[in-house]
Amino acid sequence: MKKISIIVSCYNEQESLPLFYKEITKVMEEMDKNTFELIFVNDGSKDNTLNIIKDFAKKDKRVRFVSFSRNFGKEAAMLAGLDYSTGDYVTLMDADLQDPPKMLPEMLEIIEKEDYDCVGTRRVTRKGEPPIRSFFARMFYKLINHMSKIEMVDGARDYRLMTRQMVNSILECREYNRYSKGLWSFVGYKTKWLEFENVERVAGETKWSFWKLFKYAIEGIVAFTTVPLTIAGFLGMLFCFIAFIFILIIIIKTIIFGDPVSGWPSLACIIIFVSGVQLFFLGILGEYIAKMYLETKKRPIYIVKETEEEKK
Ligand code: UDP
Ligand code: MG
Repeated sequence: MKKISIIVSCYNEQESLPLFYKEITKVMEEMDKNTFELIFVNDGSKDNTLNIIKDFAKKDKRVRFVSFSRNFGKEAAMLAGLDYSTGDYVTLMDADLQDPPKMLPEMLEIIEKEDYDCVGTRRVTRKGEPPIRSFFARMFYKLINHMSKIEMVDGARDYRLMTRQMVNSILECREYNRYSKGLWSFVGYKTKWLEFENVERVAGETKWSFWKLFKYAIEGIVAFTTVPLTIAGFLGMLFCFIAFIFILIIIIKTIIFGDPVSGWPSLACIIIFVSGVQLFFLGILGEYIAKMYLETKKRPIYIVKETEEEKK
């Protein structure tokens, strides 16, 4: 008999939580050969989420919870869940039923019978998502997979079932700027991918604006590749080379034809262009330095205000 930890990060999920709980208990009953712990991580919700979770905990012994002192973001919430989990297998789910709990029995069967350490899920469609968002998401995956040695699967969700061994490896990565999609592949292990059609959120609304997603994408790039820095160096060299050729041409022209001063508009354009490029790469450098700055402060990744243990 194996123990399975189900980790659910929740931020303002009062509408979806009751629906989620109903669905997940159905699945847990179906898998009655195993024991469960259901860990809700309340990521500083401003609505009634925490009270709903406490109600679950009161009537259901399988329910545990961790409640943050403020909103720390989904990455921090997932880490807290993993820290608190005690199961032999651990799974992460969203509270909005976009990660179908009914896939769990199949995932467990694969991890127990076949030789895998992890069963991940990826959505093959992005139905119900704004087309612009899908387009940029696809571009992002192309870009980062070109730049980084770590493979990131397009459409991969954080919904996955992992062995205790893999979870422990992930817990060894204590970086402040967490980008889980990269961390899952960084730790390695054998992953089998299950595909499913995108499901729309049951209730409430998404917490991801386009801008937030954009910043998250930059985070992923900075966290898992230094190729942008290399490009900066390479472009710098290229520009020096072009400048050298131009100098030669100008010297030769002046010697042969005279006429040393002409073409100041082109000069102005070149100066603006080159300083633009410089500022751009200074910005990229800044991104990396900013991340280093945050990392060296060693601030806690999340702060827990209460858990179910203190309540009992
Ligand atoms: N979430 C969280 N902290 C946050 C934002 C989101 O714990 O700061 C949780 C949220 O409650 C949900 C999951 O992360 O369970 C996914 O969020 P959402 O559905 O808004 O993202 P989407 O599915 O649209 O990418
Ligand atoms: Mg969602």
